Amino acid sequence: MDLKSLIREIPDFPKPGILFRDITTLLRDPEGLRYTIDTLADKCADLGADYVVGMESRGFIFGAPLAYKLGAGFIPVRKPGKLPGPVHAIEYELEYGMDRLEVHQDAFQSGCRILIVDDLIATGGTAQATAKLVQQSGCHLVGFGFIIELRDLKGRERLPEVPIVTLVDY
Ligand code: IMP
Repeated sequence: MDLKSLIREIPDFPKPGILFRDITTLLRDPEGLRYTIDTLADKCADLGADYVVGMESRGFIFGAPLAYKLGAGFIPVRKPGKLPGPVHAIEYELEYGMDRLEVHQDAFQSGCRILIVDDLIATGGTAQATAKLVQQSGCHLVGFGFIIELRDLKGRERLPEVPIVTLVDY
């Protein structure tokens, strides 16, 4: 299936000069959505993940059905102040300023096998920060899954050396 034809390009969003890859057009297509989750699950099945970790918010959309298909649990990594229980946090640099991600302290049990999933990898900062959260907890990071990779930004070079599954690249 030609997934690229289902991903809409929006120029100058969220700011001038950025070409935004909009996955809402992929999500609303029944066959495209099914193919995306099924293909990601096929490619990730051998990684043996116990849990899929998805980053707010588009990582939730793909991560939860992927976890379901893999027979794994799902763990949300959230923006600050959203999770009700005690959290571990990590700060990371954006182009301008800092951002912060949080996960429940009891979500990761030492030794469990984690697959990190997001819709898209650009500079890799979000995935790198999430990987640090996972690794600091004593869990075993088994891989990453992204629908889209923006290759020119070389995000994968910032990630630990584990398998990286992607479906579409630009
Ligand atoms: P990174 O941290 O630079 O790799 O950026 C990845 C994060 O930004 C992911 O959580 C994406 O959802 C989001 N993101 C960056 N660019 C785009 C885009 O063009 N379309 C959709 N999401 C994007």
